[in-house]
Amino acid sequence: MRRHNLHTHTTYSDGRNTPEELVQKAILERLDIIGISDHGFYNQTRHLDEKTLPDYIYFLRKLKDRTPRIKVMIGLEINTARPTGIDPERLPFEIVNQMDYVLFEHIKFDDTLKAVYRNIESVVNAKKHLRIPVGLAHTDIQGEFFGNEEDAVRILGGNEIFMDMPLNLKGDYVRFGYTQKILEYLRKYKVKFAIGTDVHSRKDSVGNIDAAMKYLTENGLEVLEMVS
Ligand SMILES: [Zn+2]
Repeated sequence: MRRHNLHTHTTYSDGRNTPEELVQKAILERLDIIGISDHGFYNQTRHLDEKTLPDYIYFLRKLKDRTPRIKVMIGLEINTARPTGIDPERLPFEIVNQMDYVLFEHIKFDDTLKAVYRNIESVVNAKKHLRIPVGLAHTDIQGEFFGNEEDAVRILGGNEIFMDMPLNLKGDYVRFGYTQKILEYLRKYKVKFAIGTDVHSRKDSVGNIDAAMKYLTENGLEVLEMVS
């Protein structure tokens, strides 16, 4: 597994670092891969949308080209909540496909929370139009898919939807630790993981990934090809 972090925010959305600052920090932290995943389609915070995405992609491609010391990946964290986000099936796929990967947030298993969240099927359907890796952002299987954990994990594995791991708030709080049962499901259905610490502010550590790497390895979980 390469040293990577695929969940970070910059001044293109609600992060405090410019993309250059973030990339420099990632180099100092000896990462091999840094993914920038600013917020998209999220009308309660600074975010990217159909109009601003081309500029974001253009800028990050240039940054990629002039920073050969590290692999810069262009991502987007897409908010799917109602009414602040977008229905994954109604994304401007043409533009989204120009990035390296996407993360969806606020996905639940079914329609019980239809008023606020989208269900997993909407991501499965959206993925049919996407040629890039698709993941779920900071997903707590026990919380988001409570009562349907095995079905959810089967859908994720079967549709090659990866998860980011772990959730890291304020740079030091790491939430992970699946039950043995869930770890079994994750292995059985071969769900892939990528590390993403949801970096927002300067205090957050872009390179705070060692515990997550150890957790993935020790528990025999699979790693997304892009970062393996
Ligand atoms: Zn985020």
